[in-house]
Parts: sequence; C-alpha cells; structure tokens
Amino acid sequence: MEKENKYYCPDCGTEMLAVYEKPALNLTCPNCGCKLATTKWETIDLDETIYEIETLSIKNPSLDQIKIFAKLTGNNFVVSKDLIKKGYSVFKGHAKNLKNTAKILDAHSFKYKIIPDYPYEIR
Ligand SMILES: [Zn+2]
Repeated sequence: MEKENKYYCPDCGTEMLAVYEKPALNLTCPNCGCKLATTKWETIDLDETIYEIETLSIKNPSLDQIKIFAKLTGNNFVVSKDLIKKGYSVFKGHAKNLKNTAKILDAHSFKYKIIPDYPYEIR
C-alpha cells in the first residue's frame, strides 16, 4: 500500500541507517561509512505514526462518489455504495501519504475522521 522511508547511500547505493536526532536526520552507510546529516526533513517526514482515515456515513452517495470510492478501495460499485453508507476505513499509513487520499475525499465532498488526530494541514 505504501513505501517505508528508505535512504540509499549516494556513493554505493547501500541502504543507509537513519538515526533521528530531532530535528536532524543522520544517515550512515553501513557499507562505506559515508555520512549525511540533514535538517531539511519536516516533522511530517519523521512522523512514524500510523494514521487511519475513516469516512463518515453518506446515506445517498452520488455516482461520482461511488466511482471514486471504488477506485480508492478497490471494491466494485455495489460493495462501494454499501461501504459509503456505513462508513469505511479507506486509508492506513504514514502522515505524508495520507494527504493524497484526504484531498481526493475533500474534492468529492466526503466527510471523514482521521485517527489519531492529524496534526498537519491537508493541502
Ligand atoms: Zn555507501
């Protein structure tokens, strides 16, 4: 469903070991010893929390809503319509990957809740 954060050594391509010393992310290559430190990562990139988006029940979903829901969840129309009526968990993953799904839901007038509370803006 989503990729974990992985960082690769610019010199040899080995997966680097990441140590967070907030706000810096220090990367060390276990192979060649190459070190990188950066502070350009935003809080959201370091957030390891798994967030969940659960849509709220819509009694009479539009065709448009059913279509997009089917696409998001990989279910057929009949199942999707049913899930929209009940409310359904459409996303589970890290904060920065959540925005995309949330934006789609926003664009199609879905109401939803994010568990736990989402501390970032959805843009
Ligand atoms: Zn290396």
